[in-house]
Amino acid sequence: MPVRPAASPPAGAELRVEDLGLTYRSERGEPVRALDGVSLRARPGELVAVVGPSGCGKTTLLEVVCGLRDADRGTVAGPPAALMPQRDLLLPWLDALENAALSLRVAGQRRGAAREGARELFCELGLDGFEHARPEELSGGMRQRVAFARTLLSGKQLLCLDEPFAGLDAITRSEMQQWLARSLQAEPRTVLLVTHDVEEAIVLGDRVIVLSRRPGRVLAELEVALPRPRRAGHAAVAELRARALAELAGAGAGS
Ligand code: ADP
Ligand code: MG
Repeated sequence: MPVRPAASPPAGAELRVEDLGLTYRSERGEPVRALDGVSLRARPGELVAVVGPSGCGKTTLLEVVCGLRDADRGTVAGPPAALMPQRDLLLPWLDALENAALSLRVAGQRRGAAREGARELFCELGLDGFEHARPEELSGGMRQRVAFARTLLSGKQLLCLDEPFAGLDAITRSEMQQWLARSLQAEPRTVLLVTHDVEEAIVLGDRVIVLSRRPGRVLAELEVALPRPRRAGHAAVAELRARALAELAGAGAGS
């Protein structure tokens, strides 16, 4: 059955994912089971972090939620989503500001207005001075921030972020995490954030979904009832991190 986000969500920006299953099949090689009965829910304005080992189906899950890939079974109901893909997919012939402004251009804004509309966020993300740089002139971390700006500027109620901070050095990653937390407090959106960094999931998430090794199944769901701002290394964060890691360690190799 084709699975698509509903055109008009039944309840604001709530996302409901029920029992998703997906197996990759190719003519060469064995079928690869990527998702096995994944269900989750993100309430309006909630940030749900999804953690799991490499190759467990996290990117596949986001692609299905965004309507880019059909699952074999299950349903997705939610508002239109913006995806920040794991690879930044910047257009090499556009400069950095134009790449960030692309969502505004796609929404119909003229070039000058779109660039102006993107500039404030671009600078907030520490990219000022690099407006005219081409993607190949940017570091991996800067490219990731341009892609992040583009996703936020889409104005979509649901953001699907695929390891958005994975390529950043530790200091910049922590700054970006705090920036995202603050900006979501100021302007709430529903966010599904995929990461393989358990600490990041706890620092940012209202809830953390722990996936098993492939095929991805939900092993545990942890509430993160900690006040913000949260910092990596806080005792309460470390305690939840240990619980999530224990769930992961207990999962075995899957099938
Ligand atoms: P993650 O994002 O958690 O690392 P993915 O969702 O990218 O995992 O992939 C899950 C599994 O599906 C992996 O074993 C991967 O090799 C496989 N896979 C991903 N995309 C494809 C594809 N297009 N065709 C076949 N197998 C794929
Ligand atoms: Mg991935």
